[in-house]
Amino acid sequence: MKNLMMSEEVLTAIVRTIGKREVSLHEPEFLGNESKYLEECLNTTFVSSVGKFVNEFESQISHFTGAKHAIAVVNGTAALHVALLLSGVKPGDEVLVPSLTFVATGNAVVYCGATPHFIDSSESNLGINVEKLRSYLLSATKLVNGKCINRSSGRTIQTLVPMHTFGHAGDLDELIEVATEFNIVVVEDAAESLGSYYKKRHTGTLGLLGVISFNGNKIVTTGGGGMLLTDDDVLAAKAKHLTTTAKLSHPWEFRHDQVAFNYRLPNLNAAIGCAQMERIESIIYAKRKLYENYRKSFEGIEGLQLFREPANSTSNYWLQTLILNKENESLRETILERTNAAGYMTRPAWIPLSELKHFEMAPRMNLESALSLSRRIINLPSSPKLAEG
Ligand SMILES: *Cc1c(COP(=O)(O)O)cnc(C)c1O
Repeated sequence: MKNLMMSEEVLTAIVRTIGKREVSLHEPEFLGNESKYLEECLNTTFVSSVGKFVNEFESQISHFTGAKHAIAVVNGTAALHVALLLSGVKPGDEVLVPSLTFVATGNAVVYCGATPHFIDSSESNLGINVEKLRSYLLSATKLVNGKCINRSSGRTIQTLVPMHTFGHAGDLDELIEVATEFNIVVVEDAAESLGSYYKKRHTGTLGLLGVISFNGNKIVTTGGGGMLLTDDDVLAAKAKHLTTTAKLSHPWEFRHDQVAFNYRLPNLNAAIGCAQMERIESIIYAKRKLYENYRKSFEGIEGLQLFREPANSTSNYWLQTLILNKENESLRETILERTNAAGYMTRPAWIPLSELKHFEMAPRMNLESALSLSRRIINLPSSPKLAEG
């Protein structure tokens, strides 16, 4: 009974917010100069990784986020891979990552020959639980020659990767303070948080490096694409070098000075990104308005919360999020079934990475909140166009 009632209530609130229609979780909008810029690429034959849109897109992102440097790459995962390498991750190291994140965060660690070390979540911002992290590091690690060493594995913990879940900023000041205390470098996985701010500073610009994704379902898309952010001139130059096959600049000679990656974003994708960035303010306005609309519709429904931006975050509300109260976690499947059957694409959160077969040997702290949250989260249809009702 309770099952059915609650799923009807959720469905009714969704219909009240976005009207009667079939909707997916997050659809991109191409309402600006996308076609015009794409045509320009074709007409000028600059379709690949050289072209004016790549540079233009980088300066738009740099300007918008306030990062001194932005380096465009083929996707967010590639950006994470290179950011981790530049943060000093070496084969055999460990990297602290939330268990509750998209699989790319963990995969990028393994690409470096390192091991993810899973960290619990905060119920208040869905990012890393910083108090729990600090007390865990106090007991589980020791400082040897300036390196943070995992006492039980003996491996170096080189880097910490906060992820701004569904566009909500984590406790960055506190996380950076803890990382500094333990000599760990911070790389922000800001894949989901373009247009989200922590205390008025753009997410992805507080760590040594930050990473954005422009996948098709993200807040701004280039089809596929990613960006590395940093204020550090030397790291920025290395990022460009490493993502462009480490070719030395020369009018005709092909000389490369190390093994590197072919990760540069093509001009075609950047062209779409340039057009998208011209409209970012209105996209974010719509996303925030959609939250307000959902908030009104879900007001008074008991047994769940519509997740609201944390105190220190001005969020892009990338994915609207319901969190069932603990006693209602068994209702999640019915709600997902009912809403999807009615044509509204709702989705659970990711299965925590710590639960995936290929990460079962990875070290971890107690992950109580991450596991609990993953059983209680439901993402709602979140496309910007739904804000019109
Ligand atoms: C989307 C996403 C990525 C990866 O981005 P791609 O561009 O799809 O490679 C990484 N981390 C998180 C948290 C993401 O949501």
